[in-house]
Amino acid sequence: MRPESHLVDRIGWLRAAVLGANDGIVSTASLVVGVAAAATTQNAVLIAGVAGLVAGAMSMAAGEYVSVSSQSDTERADLTRERKELSENRAFEQEELAEIYVKRGIDRALARQVAQQLMAKDALTAHARDELGISEISTARPVQAALTSAGTFSVGAAMPLLMVIVSPAGALVPIVSAASLGFLALLGAIGARAGGANVLRATARVTFWGALAMALTAGIGKLFGTVVF
Ligand SMILES: [Zn+2]
Repeated sequence: MRPESHLVDRIGWLRAAVLGANDGIVSTASLVVGVAAAATTQNAVLIAGVAGLVAGAMSMAAGEYVSVSSQSDTERADLTRERKELSENRAFEQEELAEIYVKRGIDRALARQVAQQLMAKDALTAHARDELGISEISTARPVQAALTSAGTFSVGAAMPLLMVIVSPAGALVPIVSAASLGFLALLGAIGARAGGANVLRATARVTFWGALAMALTAGIGKLFGTVVF
């Protein structure tokens, strides 16, 4: 039998990459459009954009690092406690596991047999999966996760910055906005396609939120630009 190819398996990393790049595009493009709407020089816009890229990448990395390490700390603590309980009171633990299967609709005699056989093979994995909901004893890598988000964010953020460099000063806002929306739509389509989701709906959604973010910061930039200078 050929194993069924699961979309979910490859969605994990792709989703993370697309989300990181999305964040990079939306936040940097909004920043650039906002600063440009306040009518500063192209150079100042670029400096603000680069600062935004670095700040965003660092904040993504820190956030991801904290979230992945605290999740893996929690899992490790749960597994340590479970291992201890298994070594101290195996009979009780087996009954506890059987009870979980009874609640899922297996009759008691069979549930006990399943619990007994699963625990004979690998007691900790059986308890981790069915009692703690940890499906694979994970090897979460906080540093790797942090670098990945910072990297994908930076790639996304580089796109609007590139547009700032190549567009003529007068047309900076429309060019950056239009190109960024194009990038967002493309990413949305790629993500949806890979995930087997509706391409049109995913693209429309991501483009709408991107446009809204840029319109808001452009409005704020315009407002402050007019009031302050
Ligand atoms: Zn247990």
